[in-house]
Amino acid sequence: MRQEHAGATNRPSRVVVREMGLRDGLQSISQVVPTAAKLEWVQAAYDAGQREIEVGSFVPARLLPQLADTAEVLAFAQTLPGLCASVLVPNLKGAERAMDCNAQSMLLPLSASHAHSLANLRKTPDEVVQDIARIRDARDARGSKTRIEVGISTAFGCTIQGHVDPAEVVRLVEAVVAEGVDAVSLADTVGYADPGMVQSLFSQVLPVARGKLDCGHFHDTRGLALANIFAALELGITRFDACIGGIGGCPHAPGASGNAATEDVAYMLASMGIDCGQDIEALLALRQRVVEWLPGEILHGTLWRAGLPKTMGTESASKARTSTSGTEAEMESAV
Ligand code: ZN
Repeated sequence: MRQEHAGATNRPSRVVVREMGLRDGLQSISQVVPTAAKLEWVQAAYDAGQREIEVGSFVPARLLPQLADTAEVLAFAQTLPGLCASVLVPNLKGAERAMDCNAQSMLLPLSASHAHSLANLRKTPDEVVQDIARIRDARDARGSKTRIEVGISTAFGCTIQGHVDPAEVVRLVEAVVAEGVDAVSLADTVGYADPGMVQSLFSQVLPVARGKLDCGHFHDTRGLALANIFAALELGITRFDACIGGIGGCPHAPGASGNAATEDVAYMLASMGIDCGQDIEALLALRQRVVEWLPGEILHGTLWRAGLPKTMGTESASKARTSTSGTEAEMESAV
């Protein structure tokens, strides 16, 4: 499959980087960020150019108290023009709440690992597909405009089951596309993917996804998230999930990073001349505020240490060069 793409690239000129820090990041951090800080976070992310932000999850507050204020954060996000705010929903009850709040988009997880699906939702993947069909029926019956995106989690492997058969991922994508969902993403939930696996799996899924596969979700557990994003970019994927400061982690790997760091992804794309509409200097400033909102939490990512290179020709880079602390100059003088 990969050989078909050797030498050819469908690399896009514009990409959406969706912010996942407030949901995927915070869901695995036990500290509770106050609602007022979350609203500042959403505003700062918006001011930095982010136009897709996942603001939380509609799950019972006893399971994830740190996301109990999702409805309030969503309501604030909806006051910002042009912002697509999404929420994660694990079932019909959560989907009803998302639609009651007129969320622009809801993300429904569907685990490609049978064992992970049973452990997480106590349902087989096919039972989850049936739930997704019921949610799509409910959405259409009430005339709701809330978009349905299915995130195929553990698509590249699973800490419980180990190997996940790519054919099973293909089968599940076909099933949910047949049920009329609006979009599908492939998620490396536990950081098992490498760029070869990414090109192979996306290449197998793209022909059956009928144009609905547009997003990659890569955890940086083993340092390959940026390489995996690049691999998917070359196949024409135009949307990637990321968490500011790489927050999040993996419950099975204490201290591990979460999603690719938003500021690192934005930097890589800008350096490659791919427009993602985000102001890297503003992202670095937001990262610093997140450090303050999560005292004691280890953040990840790389760009913040060195700052932007002098050779970077973007407006955001030149602004950053004149207004940040001069980290690069200090590093150069130390060489
Ligand atoms: Zn994730």
